[in-house]
Amino acid sequence: MSSFDGILLGAGHNSLVLQAYLGRAGLKTVCLERGSTIGGGLATVEDPRWPGYRHNTHSFFHRAIDQMPWYGELELERRGATYVEPELNVALILKSGEALCWWTDFERTAESFAEFSARDAATLRRWREAFVPILERILGPEARRPALDPNARRKTLEQTAAGRLLLETSALSPLEFVEREFEHPVVKAGLLFFNGLREVDLRLRGFGHHIPALLASPAKAQMCIGGAARLADALAAAVRETGGEIRTSCEPRRIVLDRGRVIGVETTSGELIRGRFVASSLNPQQTFLDLLPDAPTGVRERAAKFEYNLLAPLFALNLVLKAPPQYRAAQRRAELARAFMVILGLERYEQFNDIVRHHEEGRIPSTVMWGACPTLFDASQAPPGGHTAFMWEKLPYRLASGDWDRERDRHAEHMLAQWALYAPNVMQDGIGWFARSPLDTERDLPNMRHGDLLVGSFANGQVGYDRPFRGAGEYRTPIDGLYLCGSSCHPGGNITGLPGYNAAQVLLADLGLAKLGPGH
Ligand SMILES: Cc1cc2nc3c(=O)[nH]c(=O)nc-3n(C[C@H](O)[C@H](O)[C@H](O)COP(=O)(O)OP(=O)(O)OC[C@H]3O[C@@H](n4cnc5c(N)ncnc54)[C@H](O)[C@@H]3O)c2cc1C
Repeated sequence: MSSFDGILLGAGHNSLVLQAYLGRAGLKTVCLERGSTIGGGLATVEDPRWPGYRHNTHSFFHRAIDQMPWYGELELERRGATYVEPELNVALILKSGEALCWWTDFERTAESFAEFSARDAATLRRWREAFVPILERILGPEARRPALDPNARRKTLEQTAAGRLLLETSALSPLEFVEREFEHPVVKAGLLFFNGLREVDLRLRGFGHHIPALLASPAKAQMCIGGAARLADALAAAVRETGGEIRTSCEPRRIVLDRGRVIGVETTSGELIRGRFVASSLNPQQTFLDLLPDAPTGVRERAAKFEYNLLAPLFALNLVLKAPPQYRAAQRRAELARAFMVILGLERYEQFNDIVRHHEEGRIPSTVMWGACPTLFDASQAPPGGHTAFMWEKLPYRLASGDWDRERDRHAEHMLAQWALYAPNVMQDGIGWFARSPLDTERDLPNMRHGDLLVGSFANGQVGYDRPFRGAGEYRTPIDGLYLCGSSCHPGGNITGLPGYNAAQVLLADLGLAKLGPGH
């Protein structure tokens, strides 16, 4: 039997961020990971058929990681996690060869929007200017601390013009916001895709502000040199430097309570690991139903009702190539040859309704995909002269007819053919490929239930203070000594590290090792 101050469940980036802060505060911790590697959604792998070609099978586009507070405080650059932020950050390439482009330089983005609609370019500028202070003073700080009670938050926001504008825009859905403000179908499609679809259900009221917030954000897509797993390795180095232990292939069977208080974790191999507290990065069903059969009924009921995103699962096609994809559109616009995130198949914003309907019916919609060629920006991810590229597509977790294990390769071939319509050389220059379905995601990372890579939707009231559910927001749970620290907490999924960072603030305050701000 071993004994620690704290035990963390799951070695994804959120747990590792939390564990590193606990170690810095002098606490002895262990992190238990069921898989054979650490990092969760930070995975960089090689297919044994093509050694030396590295593929990022989960996250790749990391948003402004080098601006996150934990990135600097945990000295992750020094530990090997370095980032690049390509200038032509996103390009929506149309069948006609035209392209809507987001640059790291806003003026170039506005010029690209003006090619489609001068009015939309002016609207873009207006909303960006209005939301820069909202982002800097309200939304940015809100994501970097435990969420406030919604009533208290509303009262505070109502006191300032910026706060009132935020409330007014967030009362809309992203779809309503874009329909109200913009006119050109390609601009609308681009905004919704880039700024909305990946994060929230576009029909959901309460999230209209996501569009102007992302327009105003200086946080562009970045990639980790060497692959996403380098960030996990750097975090693990920060953990180990302060004595933190990470055990892989070690699965918890139950969280052990004594008179209602956490006293440790029993593993599937029968070991009892003692700890004063447990922080779980798993989803609420795993934490409260699978691992806590003795949790109070009310808590179990609320955990059981936690919902996942219908539109979050991804299908991935990963290529091994002799040359990068050469887009036909780049013959006219040379800059497209160096586009980072490329979106294909999206021509008009009405396609969203179609995508949603297909998800609801378990059918495969016409292909809208996005991806990148990592080796254009980081040669270390392939042998000399070689390249990797990938495309992702939003596809339903459950198929109405057939199942993913049978459909996967057939669909991958269809996707490759669609890609070749824009970049014919992906056929001739292709050495090989492999695909991964939403089912593969869930098998790899069971916390991403139903393939939901955001680990829980923002519908069903699962947002801010009430995420994952009322009474378990603020990273504390109704069970003494049990904390949450994963993407099912505020501010949600993706590689932000903020659930782990915020959980650290709460846990250290509860242990008397730090102080929380007002309202908590
Ligand atoms: C295909 C794909 C593409 C993505 N692309 C992006 C992107 O480009 N940008 C972006 O920001 N995000 C992206 N994401 C989402 C991102 O990876 C996740 O939101 C993020 O990894 C969640 O972080 P986490 O620390 O909360 O959990 P995870 O990273 O999921 O880590 C959880 C850990 O817990 C472990 N675990 C699960 N069950 C148990 C158990 N019972 N016991 C012990 N351990 C367990 C898992 O093995 C895993 O290591 C993508 C995800 C996928 C699947």
